[in-house]
Amino acid sequence: MNNIIEKALHVAGALTHDKIVTLLSLEDTKELFQAAYQLKCRYIGKKVSLRGLIEMGNVCSKDCFYCGIRKSNSNVKRYRLSEEDVIRMAKWCFEHDYGSVVLQSGEIESETNTEYVEHILRGIREFGGDTFGVTLCLGEQTEEVFRRWLEAGAHRYLLRIESSDPSIYAKIHPANHLYTRRVECLRILKRLGYQTGSGVMIGLPGQTLDDLAYDIEFFREMDLDMIGMGPYLPHADTPLGANIAMTPEYTNRQLQLGLKMIAVTRLYLHDVNIAATTALQALDDTGREQGIQAGANVIMPNVTDVEYRRSYQLYPNKPCLDENAAKCRNCLNWRMLSIGEKIIWGERGDSPHYFKKRK
Ligand code: SAH
Repeated sequence: MNNIIEKALHVAGALTHDKIVTLLSLEDTKELFQAAYQLKCRYIGKKVSLRGLIEMGNVCSKDCFYCGIRKSNSNVKRYRLSEEDVIRMAKWCFEHDYGSVVLQSGEIESETNTEYVEHILRGIREFGGDTFGVTLCLGEQTEEVFRRWLEAGAHRYLLRIESSDPSIYAKIHPANHLYTRRVECLRILKRLGYQTGSGVMIGLPGQTLDDLAYDIEFFREMDLDMIGMGPYLPHADTPLGANIAMTPEYTNRQLQLGLKMIAVTRLYLHDVNIAATTALQALDDTGREQGIQAGANVIMPNVTDVEYRRSYQLYPNKPCLDENAAKCRNCLNWRMLSIGEKIIWGERGDSPHYFKKRK
């Protein structure tokens, strides 16, 4: 085991498919996590970047079988924040030195929505200039729309492939949600010059370690700058999640698998940004801290006004439902210090990989 990890520490892309599977199957993860954390420190330092997450709205045209805000879920109260509200929340992040925001919502393709996002981006640019980071996570769009948003001030885009295996993808989505379109969108985003991120859900029903290893290889083939992935959490109001019980064994397995995916992705890709996602925290109160210690370097605290948070539950057990942004800021600071990490205040926290490619 030592040899595999040792080699991976020296050279990115050094792991074979079988070695990736071996690492993902480890029971004793101590060495693996230590090595991944060492790499994270080499490329980023003992610091984490923040992205204030703004959940702009839960109206969605898609019907993904796993997602709590899927179109057919009638138990959800739908909302969309006003442009002013989104800009106010982003400004709060700017003034509190978060360095960047992520604007996320359900997937809508319409001129009204495109303009809504454009107005928000221009509003943010007025106070944020070029030094404040703006990531979009707004689903599949046409090249034209991606370009307009880039021109209005966005510079990073996160679009998870959900699973890089077309047959798994087909099982967890209705037939009109096309895997090929999602991949094509990622290609367009990269071509336009966005720092491009993707990721998968980990521990989906029927997904094997072999599949997850291919996911990690997909990240490298696609030459991604950022990885945002997290454990799958069964939501009772969805076709995929209705019959899965969140037993303590299940919860622990999902958490461990999520952490191993972070660690092996770090060992294989080296210099990308990797998020310790909120789904980890939904499984364990210290899930994000554990994610950092397994090689992640980004956290995305929710800064949406508390009154909307219950309506944006992609999965159950969403943490911090009642904790406002100011409380969260203190809590995070303390949590990072507790593991010997510092928050990088006031910087965009760009992916080192993106700039290396451009040198
Ligand atoms: N519609 C936007 C935003 C998606 S929400 C887009 O496609 O980019 C962000 C992510 O939440 C999704 O990409 C998905 O991977 C994740 N997600 C949704 N339901 C989930 C669940 N039940 N468990 C874990 N993650 C989930």
